[in-house]
Amino acid sequence: MRSIRDIYKVGVGPSSSHTMGPAKAAEIFRERVPEADSFRVLLYGSLSKTGKGHGTDRALKDAFSPLECDVVFSAADPKDMKHPNTLDLIALRNGEEIERARVQSIGGGDIVFEGDDSSGAEEEVYLENSFAEIASFCAFRHVDLPEYIELNEGEEIWGFLIDIWHHMKDAVKEGLSREGELPGGLHVQRKAKYLFEHIVEDKHSELVECQKVSAFAYAVSEQNADNGIIVTAPTCGACGVLPAVLYYFAEKRKLDDLQVAKALGVAGLFGELAKRNASVSGAECGCQAEVGVACSMAAAACGQVFGYSMDQIEYAAEVALEHHLGLTCDPIRGLVQIPCIERNAVAAMRAINSANIAYFLTGTRNISYDIAIKSMYYTGLDMNQRYRETAEGGLARAYQRRGKW
Ligand code: SF4
Repeated sequence: MRSIRDIYKVGVGPSSSHTMGPAKAAEIFRERVPEADSFRVLLYGSLSKTGKGHGTDRALKDAFSPLECDVVFSAADPKDMKHPNTLDLIALRNGEEIERARVQSIGGGDIVFEGDDSSGAEEEVYLENSFAEIASFCAFRHVDLPEYIELNEGEEIWGFLIDIWHHMKDAVKEGLSREGELPGGLHVQRKAKYLFEHIVEDKHSELVECQKVSAFAYAVSEQNADNGIIVTAPTCGACGVLPAVLYYFAEKRKLDDLQVAKALGVAGLFGELAKRNASVSGAECGCQAEVGVACSMAAAACGQVFGYSMDQIEYAAEVALEHHLGLTCDPIRGLVQIPCIERNAVAAMRAINSANIAYFLTGTRNISYDIAIKSMYYTGLDMNQRYRETAEGGLARAYQRRGKW
């Protein structure tokens, strides 16, 4: 399994697969063809269908700037397309094509250049590739999950994760300070500041928890929707869930940076397992792969913060993912706003509830995290294409047809 560094990428929203991945591909391709004087990019699949809403054209033009880049949202997909997020990069000189590459944007900002095995192959850091293997190793060596992470990644991993935590906190704070309408023409107003400033501090403590956690999730997700700087966890669209939960408990339990870093490390293991054995791409497996995985990461982080056993932490992550199975990706107008922002807040609360259930029902379950991941993957593959980030099904379709049925 790859390093958990792979899960957390600091970048500009609103989409890891539609903006961060294509921009990274453009930067690599541009360096490979220094003699080019302009570029053309053909977008296919989900990139073509929701690329406008997600800002794929803007991200590509920025990446190739100051050279010209013509971005084409292709109406038809090539017959041999291997991934729903595929793009062709074409380098031109004096208007003539001199080089071409096909790239898959596979989720979480990662890319694969087809025919180039080295392009997507990050170094394997862990020998274990399932939670069962991790648990067995930890039992054999008598180590807990943070110790297991340090054994494999070195103690420098904590400095990296503390830096990630600071970026996450910045996104929460910035999001809580901003007001107004989000871009894209859907007229969605930012709500995080309002939510935070109207917290009802009374005896209903569970209401206060819900309001605070939701405000933090809205804050980060609204930053993402507004092209702000966020951290993928595991993607841009699902970037609000984990920071919301950690921001809440860091404040409530007075956690220091290292304690939060360890929670981020544990969360990262669960995210990386999902990436390795299934997918974190909405275009490939629907929102269960994005917000579902984010929720499982946040539930695992809660378990680490609460001092749970390894079994309880896995249980929390499993519950969180299991109850997102089948969740579709249907963003209205291809913008990462409705249902995405609110969904991050709901998933943040669900992560806390999942951790609570794992505590009360320890040792009673039949389903492992590994089974939940595989279920998510095969459910995603069975899902109608409309529900995989095309903005052609579900809420996106019903919203477009409102009043016409
Ligand atoms: S619905 Fe979920 S997977 Fe789809 S764009 Fe929104 S957050 Fe991402």
